[in-house]
Amino acid sequence: MKGLKENFENAHILIIGSGIIGKFNALELSELGFQITILDPTQNKNSSNGALGLLMGNIYQKRKGRSWALRKQSIELWPKWLKKLQELNNELNIEKPLIQLTTNEETFEKLEKFINENNDQNLKILERDSFIIKNINKTFQTRNIKGIISHRDGRINAGTLLRTLDAYLKNKKVKFLKDKIIKIKKSNQHWIATSKTKNEIKSDVIILCNSLNTIDLLDNISHNIKLKPVLGQAIEVSVNDEEVDLLSLPKQFNINGKNIIPLSKNKLIIGSTDEYSTKPEKNIFEKITNFLDKKPIWLINGKVTKKWFGIRSRPEGEPSPIMKNLGDGLIICTGFYKNGILLAPACSKWVANEIKNYFS
Ligand SMILES: Cc1cc2nc3c(=O)[nH]c(=O)nc-3n(C[C@H](O)[C@H](O)[C@H](O)COP(=O)(O)OP(=O)(O)OC[C@H]3O[C@@H](n4cnc5c(N)ncnc54)[C@H](O)[C@@H]3O)c2cc1C
Repeated sequence: MKGLKENFENAHILIIGSGIIGKFNALELSELGFQITILDPTQNKNSSNGALGLLMGNIYQKRKGRSWALRKQSIELWPKWLKKLQELNNELNIEKPLIQLTTNEETFEKLEKFINENNDQNLKILERDSFIIKNINKTFQTRNIKGIISHRDGRINAGTLLRTLDAYLKNKKVKFLKDKIIKIKKSNQHWIATSKTKNEIKSDVIILCNSLNTIDLLDNISHNIKLKPVLGQAIEVSVNDEEVDLLSLPKQFNINGKNIIPLSKNKLIIGSTDEYSTKPEKNIFEKITNFLDKKPIWLINGKVTKKWFGIRSRPEGEPSPIMKNLGDGLIICTGFYKNGILLAPACSKWVANEIKNYFS
């Protein structure tokens, strides 16, 4: 066992990309004792910084296959990591529960079926006369909202999480370099990564966590990986209506596919996903607030006080995410077009196991 520990301590791992996936891989591997360097030229503009941080694990309706297995493992791993990270920042938390709502009868029937078929104490149908449904119907001036609640899912603030990870990794002596890798090649026993500033970084293992740009660094003939950009957008809306108290709503919920996070009595965030594009839309307010047959007056009159977007990478011809050991100490962990925050612990665990085997 001592030999293995020494192997880990002497090995240098280069992580390309410092979004949530790069940072979580560094977290998992730094616990094993590896020497780690992360490279990223512009991490503040990445998709992780734009994420709303919803952890949609248990509420996922397909209870089999790889995606469910990753979600399930992440749900189990999150409490352990949260406890560790809270030692550095006690403001970091997972706010529970998560509520999924719809005004569509057919969608609700599917949700009902899902709850009835899965005897899970943490998942429930929201009763029509429940406090939550009554408040949501009142605030959104509707009558037909229905939905389910998951007590095991919730939200972590992505910005706070990323900052806490930075502090944790710094304590673990993980080296951060602000640079872009333009080429990687294997030379004798080592990998050489060349950066835009002509820096050459030698490592034993490379993990590609650089989302869309992963393919730029791979030989596309031998590794036939295709990624497409998917835009995710969010707005912060300020409401000027004395009658409305957004804090009477749940802390995080989803109506007809839009994620909503009330921030204060008169401010909320609305987020949307799923457009194959790289350019944010000009009429974002109209589009993102159009999730009910009739918009409540307070929302029509709302003012956008912030807006942001992120570009995620979606695999083509294979499921998301792409986690592959390409052999010879080259691993890819990319294609997280959705749920990267949720899945980071399970995917990093997979990478760590591959690397442990490589050095054993
Ligand atoms: C508006 C919005 C809301 C979202 N909401 C949620 C949510 O509620 N829950 C959830 O789980 N997920 C959510 N997501 C999705 C989530 O943000 C992504 O799945 C996740 O951030 C992907 O992380 P990543 O590390 O793979 O990519 P990124 O965060 O994009 O990081 C990739 C990094 O690689 C760097 N890079 C690229 N090329 C190179 C290179 N050649 N050399 C060095 N570095 C390089 C980039 O600069 C970048 O920093 C949301 C996304 C958006 C945009």
